Amino acid sequence: MQKLVEGIHHFQANVFRPRREWYERLAEGQRPLALFITCSDSRINPNLITHSEPGELFIVRNAGNIVPPNQSAAGGEQATIEFALGALGITDIIVCGHTHCGAMTGLLMPEKLEGMPAVRHWLGHAESTRRIIKDKYTELSGTALQSAAAQENVLVQLENLRTHPAVAAGLSMGTLKLHGWMYKIETGEVFGFDPETGQFTPLTETSSVPIHVTRLTAPAI
Ligand code: ZN
Repeated sequence: MQKLVEGIHHFQANVFRPRREWYERLAEGQRPLALFITCSDSRINPNLITHSEPGELFIVRNAGNIVPPNQSAAGGEQATIEFALGALGITDIIVCGHTHCGAMTGLLMPEKLEGMPAVRHWLGHAESTRRIIKDKYTELSGTALQSAAAQENVLVQLENLRTHPAVAAGLSMGTLKLHGWMYKIETGEVFGFDPETGQFTPLTETSSVPIHVTRLTAPAI
């Protein structure tokens, strides 16, 4: 803990103080660029990997970057999504998974969750991921299987996201875009899912940001 307290002193003296006026203006309100949903894993830091500032990302973190579908009991994720869209006018939502995700290990090897009933229950929201991995990736094992699970889980959670009324409405009106990202811990790279190719491809300065879903097609009347 001592390291953390020393860090607070360092922040106040070397980060906050030189930009005091800028930080003070943050008290007036926030207008974040995106809602960023990612894992609680200590090795992924949304502001660091996107080189963004306080006030620029509205963040949800939990084990496995999971979005419980709307019909499940109201929880923190549901309220945060609703607030992001209703009060903050968020126009982009990113679901960002990562390599070496412990939640994916738990999903694929439930025997490791002995004595953790809450984790087991929580990972039930990723049951579709487990089933996809079981049926589709029979030839993979080890870290390759874990990475495939993390990627498929991003897509499953994007589908869960669409069950939320505010998300569905935003997609239908064309005011909201969804993005599926993957962070590779060992290289620092971020990959975006491109629905045109069905692949996660590196996001670079020059590439346009792929959009998972822009607008739902209106049903034929
Ligand atoms: Zn994780």
